[in-house]
Amino acid sequence: MEYGPAPESATEVLKWLAARGTFGHFIGGAFTAPGVTFATTNPATGENLAQITQGTAADIAAAVAAARAAQPGWAALAGHERAKWLYAMARHVQKRERFLAVLESLDNGKPIRETRDIDIPLVARHFYHHAGWAELLAEEFPGAAPVGVCGQIIPWNFPLLMLAWKIAPALAAGNTVVLKPAEYTPLTALAFAEICAEIGLPAGVVNIVTGDGETGAALVASKVDKIAFTGSTEVGRAIRKATAGTGKALTLELGGKSPFIVCADADLDAAVEGVVESIWFNQGQVCCAGSRILVAEAVEDAFTRRLTDRLARLRVGDPLDKSVDMGALVHPVQLARVQQMVAAGMAAGARLVQAECKLPAKGCFYAPGFLTGVNPANPVADAEIFGPVATLTSFRTPDEAVELANATRYGLAASVWTESVNLAMDLAAKVKAGVVWVNSANIFDAGAAFGGMRESGFGREGGRAGLRDYLRGPEVAEAPEAQAT
Ligand code: NAD
Repeated sequence: MEYGPAPESATEVLKWLAARGTFGHFIGGAFTAPGVTFATTNPATGENLAQITQGTAADIAAAVAAARAAQPGWAALAGHERAKWLYAMARHVQKRERFLAVLESLDNGKPIRETRDIDIPLVARHFYHHAGWAELLAEEFPGAAPVGVCGQIIPWNFPLLMLAWKIAPALAAGNTVVLKPAEYTPLTALAFAEICAEIGLPAGVVNIVTGDGETGAALVASKVDKIAFTGSTEVGRAIRKATAGTGKALTLELGGKSPFIVCADADLDAAVEGVVESIWFNQGQVCCAGSRILVAEAVEDAFTRRLTDRLARLRVGDPLDKSVDMGALVHPVQLARVQQMVAAGMAAGARLVQAECKLPAKGCFYAPGFLTGVNPANPVADAEIFGPVATLTSFRTPDEAVELANATRYGLAASVWTESVNLAMDLAAKVKAGVVWVNSANIFDAGAAFGGMRESGFGREGGRAGLRDYLRGPEVAEAPEAQAT
């Protein structure tokens, strides 16, 4: 296969898409002939971007066989040899960063400012970080072995970043993978497959099979050794049932309804910017979004006023416009879901404060906002809206804030805003969440473990703990830091 220089502008990306037109899977180091296809579309315009092959159980079996054949050789490489491939992936992602940023914005609808400054740099960082882990593996995890062949299923909200979170640690640890991207956003995964071919990655180490939930279910049922899933709690539950008693290892990164706690002594302007980064980032389609704002009664009026002012200044529109804060939701189905959830919340007594911005005439755009007057029985109190709409509730004391924060079936993330270190540490310890940010929100790093508790799932991604979930053996059961406490 011939590869020219990476196209960078939107026009060049569209040309790249037009040249390929219809994509097959990436199995055993090569693209397969397309099968039955479906369209992936640009949610900002409704236009078709490419035709994508719907993966069958036979495609999954072929991909798993390729991964199985490649796994012993991959695991037998010295750690520094595997590291070389991960470094190459990181460098090639960087080389094509503008191309990948544009492609991701086109397929997903998220603003180019986010794909360019957040998603794609974090993807490269994840591969660099795990290249380091591949080199250190034998020393840090003596006696540990890879799990084997890993089936990985990812959602559409951070398509290439979720791919990196799955593939980088798995490969560093000596596993081979079959990854299924989400049906709404398969394009950057297919571009990543091209990178694997371009760098000459050994055939079968990375396999990408596209398709919908049926393809995902076929992967779960296939002869893999582990399933790593990120997506909804509902599908996570079905996967847990399907893998029970099969001996397959499982990690689940699921939904959330994360509290965003603004204490009476918080820097209110900073907290307002925190909300922007938390629930209006990525159109609110973020599993760890601060979707439940809890604000101290003493500052509720002042905070709500500033938040409403800030809301009015958010720019919603063309995702490829560099000055835009919010782009399009991923798909008409998701837009309808958000509209229905907000309507149900309002029917149950909540009041919507919404930006009065002029939305583009077509495309999956939704004006950001927040709901007040949400009582505990309201359906939006503990259900994910998964759109740019938070709920806002007040509390009187820090103890009440903790009680409200923990009144959820989820436990993914939390954000605490206060100028008091003591109060921050106290609240952080009491809130039931896998990640707690203080005076910040949605901060991710390849070296820091991310993951949930309760119905937000189990297992970690990133850092030492994330790597452990792709290993088995004597040193793996507990991390040294866990043993020390
Ligand atoms: P989803 O669960 O519908 O789909 C996720 C993936 O699973 C997709 O690739 C889909 O094709 C596949 N899938 C669907 N049904 C399947 C089945 N029966 N068996 C196997 N695979 C199946 O979720 P979504 O709508 O794509 O994503 C949104 C959800 O993901 C939200 O609830 C969000 O909170 C969650 N999420 C969680 C995290 C996290 O790290 N905890 C990150 C991103 C998204």
